[in-house]
Amino acid sequence: MTGTEPDSQHIDTTRPHPARVYDWFLGGKDNYPVDEELARRITAIDGGAPKAARANRAFMRRTTRALAAEAGIRQFLDIGTGIPTEPNLHQIAQSVTPDARVVYVDNDPIVLAHAHALLRGTPDGVTEYVQADARDPHTILEQAGRVLDFDRPVALSLIALLHFVADEDGAHDLVAALVDVLAPGSFLALSTMTADFDPENVHTGIAAYAAGGVTLVARSHAEVGVFFEGLELLEPGIVSVAEWRPEEEPRERISLYGGVARKP
Ligand code: SAH
Repeated sequence: MTGTEPDSQHIDTTRPHPARVYDWFLGGKDNYPVDEELARRITAIDGGAPKAARANRAFMRRTTRALAAEAGIRQFLDIGTGIPTEPNLHQIAQSVTPDARVVYVDNDPIVLAHAHALLRGTPDGVTEYVQADARDPHTILEQAGRVLDFDRPVALSLIALLHFVADEDGAHDLVAALVDVLAPGSFLALSTMTADFDPENVHTGIAAYAAGGVTLVARSHAEVGVFFEGLELLEPGIVSVAEWRPEEEPRERISLYGGVARKP
C-alpha cells in the first residue's frame, strides 16, 4: 500500500463523501449518518438512485470481464475504486487471468482504511492500492509504474469517477494525461452521469449533492464522447450503462453513460 496509513482522524464524518454515499446506495455498512442522510434525500428525489449504483457496478463487472476474457488484458489501473464491494475488479480480472496485475487508486481515506480487502488477490496476480487524487495523474502513473508495465496494454477504468471532476477542475486533462502514456492496444472504460434521460430528477439530485458540499456534473452524450477522442469505441458505443452488452434485457435507462474504447 502506498500513501498515508489509515488514520480514522482523516475520516471526516461531518460532511458526506461520495464513496460513502455510494456505499449506502449499494447496501454497504461503511458510511456515516451524514452520508445516509444525503443518500436518503437523493433517493426521495430519485427512487432509482440505488438501482443506478447497482447497474453501474454491474457495468464494471461486464467491462472488466470483456477486457480480460476477450481483449486479453492482464493489467488494470482502476481510478476512483470506491469502498470494496464484492466482487471487486481484481476478483473479476483474476478469475479470468489469475496473474492479472491490478492497481487501485482513490483519494478518500475511507477507501484506504478498507483497502486491505482489495489487496487479497490470487497468489499469481498482484493487487496494489495507491492513495492519490485523479487530478494528479503524474503521481498515479509514477506509483502505478511500480506494478504495471506501461509498455504493454493496460485497461484504464474510470467508473463513476468523472462526474466528481468538473471540466474546469481538469477532467479532460486528467483523462488525456493518463491515456497518453498507455501503449497501443490499451483500453479506456468509463461511466459518468448524464441528465440526457431524466433531466429534472438528475438536476434536483445534483442540487442536493451541492447542498451537501459535493460537486457533481452531468454530461451529454457528445460531452462524454470527448473523453474517447482518438480512441476506437467498442460496440455498442456510448450507451446507458445498463445497455452496454447487457446480460438481461435492460428495463430502464440508467442516468449514467458508459463506454469502452481501444487505443490504436
Ligand atoms: N468505481 C467504483 C466506485 C465509484 S464511487 C464503482 O463504480 O463501483 C466514486 C469514487 O471516486 C469514490 O470512491 C470517490 O472517493 C472517488 N473519487 C472522487 N473524486 C476523486 C478524485 N479526485 N480522485 C480520486 N478518487 C476520487
